Amino acid sequence: MKEALEQIKEDIIKHAKISGRKSEDITLIAVSKTYPAEAIEEAISLGCEHFGENKVQELMNKVDVVKGNPKWHLIGHLQTNKVKYVIGHVELIHSVDSLKLAQEIEKQSAKKGVVTSILIEVNVAKEDSKHGIYVEDVLELVKAIAQLPHVKIEGFMTVAPFTEDPEENRPIFKALYDLSVDIQKQNIDNISTSILSMGMSNDYKIAIEEGATLIRIGTALFGARDYNR
Ligand SMILES: *Cc1c(COP(=O)(O)O)cnc(C)c1O
Repeated sequence: MKEALEQIKEDIIKHAKISGRKSEDITLIAVSKTYPAEAIEEAISLGCEHFGENKVQELMNKVDVVKGNPKWHLIGHLQTNKVKYVIGHVELIHSVDSLKLAQEIEKQSAKKGVVTSILIEVNVAKEDSKHGIYVEDVLELVKAIAQLPHVKIEGFMTVAPFTEDPEENRPIFKALYDLSVDIQKQNIDNISTSILSMGMSNDYKIAIEEGATLIRIGTALFGARDYNR
């Protein structure tokens, strides 16, 4: 894991440089789904601070057992009936794609007296199998969520298609970047567009070149996942 992490850090520096960006502006989220608490604790000991999980139950189990108090990110689809479990425990929810979900986050956050940071998940490639809203529907959703006092939009997230050649995803990442610039120009109160969560093990280098500020990496750090474990 140490070598894998070194490699990722080198890649961040290299591909930030290629695109004239600062490597400090790119944060690694170690995607720990299916990996045990010990693997997460090892990553923490190597300096990882941010961890991503895509299921609420698994996330909450790990919040309880993992030592070292890392920052947790919910990166998978969130059902409204599970919102109450995660509020107050996560740094950022990456997967908000409806007003109904945002309203439930508002309700539960108000109850706990916190403001919850979220990203809007965008299905840039319009894949049927993916969550997220279409690019053309983002502005309206952002305007509506901006009205909610206990929810704070911090930017956008996308899960790009799986491709053999990661270059194929460059237009997807560029489209999310362009969208964030467009939304920023609208000067909407109570929102930020500074975070772009995009890029996974197979395509993070391209995502960095196209403006990613959070990259979500599982297998390239922890090794192949075993879903039967
Ligand atoms: C699993 C997952 C990742 C990490 O995928 P790898 O290919 O293992 O890097 C990133 N983002 C989301 C939303 C995921 O579910």
